[in-house]
Amino acid sequence: MDATTTTPNTTSAPIFAGPFEGSERAAEIIARVQAFLNGELAELAREHHIDHEHGAPRELLQRVWRRSHALGFYGMTLPAKMGGLGLTVLDHVLIKEAIYATGSPFAPHVFGELSGPPRVGALARQATPEQMRDFILPVAQADKAICFALTEAEAGSDAGAVQTRAVKDGDHYVITGKKRFISGSPFADYAVLMASTADEGAQQREVSAFFVDLKAPGVRVEQGYKTMAGQSSTGDIVLEGARVPAANLIGEPGRGLALALGRITVNRLLHCPAMVGLATVALTDARDYAMQRRQFGRAIGQFQAIQHMLAEAATELAAARALMICTARQLDAGAEARAEASMAKLFCSETAFRVADRAVQVHGGEGIVQGRRVEFLFRMLRMYRVLTGTSEIQKNTIAKELLSEKETTK
Ligand SMILES: Cc1cc2nc3c(=O)[nH]c(=O)nc-3n(C[C@H](O)[C@H](O)[C@H](O)COP(=O)(O)OP(=O)(O)OC[C@H]3O[C@@H](n4cnc5c(N)ncnc54)[C@H](O)[C@@H]3O)c2cc1C
Repeated sequence: MDATTTTPNTTSAPIFAGPFEGSERAAEIIARVQAFLNGELAELAREHHIDHEHGAPRELLQRVWRRSHALGFYGMTLPAKMGGLGLTVLDHVLIKEAIYATGSPFAPHVFGELSGPPRVGALARQATPEQMRDFILPVAQADKAICFALTEAEAGSDAGAVQTRAVKDGDHYVITGKKRFISGSPFADYAVLMASTADEGAQQREVSAFFVDLKAPGVRVEQGYKTMAGQSSTGDIVLEGARVPAANLIGEPGRGLALALGRITVNRLLHCPAMVGLATVALTDARDYAMQRRQFGRAIGQFQAIQHMLAEAATELAAARALMICTARQLDAGAEARAEASMAKLFCSETAFRVADRAVQVHGGEGIVQGRRVEFLFRMLRMYRVLTGTSEIQKNTIAKELLSEKETTK
């Protein structure tokens, strides 16, 4: 069943109807990007039976990336000198929220979040001219796709514990190991891949970053699992003595983690609009269902129990959204906002999941039928409490900032 079409978009009024918080340019982009998603891409999804559970094949994704590129959306998040718009964090957040709030299965592909420009924009400063030509520009221009590979079976929250090893051999590195849970790897051409370049048995960790061609000998992508959201856009990358040119080393040896985590604060915040956008879809669906479903001779939305569930969900979501916007403004003003970005990621992910849970409850039995959009959103929003730094890791960061602040105020 098509999860995107089972719940008609009957929204009578937006959930958040206040004045727009971003720039005029962002408002104009949002109008165009929504028209793209709700028009051309909705038609494409219908034609090819694509929904949240049934992803598009690579050829179709490439069509979406190229079209998004032609319309000026794809590279929008890149630095201005690479053809991007030099967006403020706030505008970026608001545009992304609007994209996800359409409920489109193509939402992650408009900017190329899984495998496009956001994966390479921050590397441009470190890249050699050859790396720009061979890896970064083809990705920016929607010709090639790239994934980001850090996690391993033994290196999850403790990202620095990578065991994949890269050993120098002449003008190559020989890389052996296995990367786990890599988003976009099943349809990517390249990976930005983290491997240990420390000497065998060394106490000191040394993680370096490489561009790796996923089609090269000794490299393969395995796809033995689906996530609970039913998607198969995640895979493992197996490297068996893969010979990677030393010219593919990104920046200095041993600077891989700094590269990977360099923008972690803003990246944490930039996951929030996806959660807030999707939770808005869940709440809208619940609100619309409550107005339309009748029991005991009246719409269930007339029962106070249902009204309270909707009211609580709307209040918590408004608070999460306010924290997201406030943190974006702090980052735009030049604040470090490390604790605040973790608070936003923690609160938005926990809140979005509670909103989805209530939306399922409002739908009763229909809410737990596979193919209903709220059922999908419940599973999808559960994942964000783990992805890109679990809730516990966010709390660690917040506590660390709090406690260090305490020491300096003594
Ligand atoms: C769908 C999906 C997509 C992903 N995409 C990518 C990707 O593209 N690239 C990539 O590199 N990785 C990716 N990941 C990996 C993701 O970043 C990790 O799953 C995440 O960081 C958690 O690591 P882990 O799964 O090993 O959990 P673990 O680190 O084993 O954590 C298990 C539990 O222990 C808790 N815990 C661990 N350490 C601490 C601590 N110090 N204090 C308190 N609690 C702690 C955690 O919070 C969690 O509850 C993806 C994962 C998924 C599921």
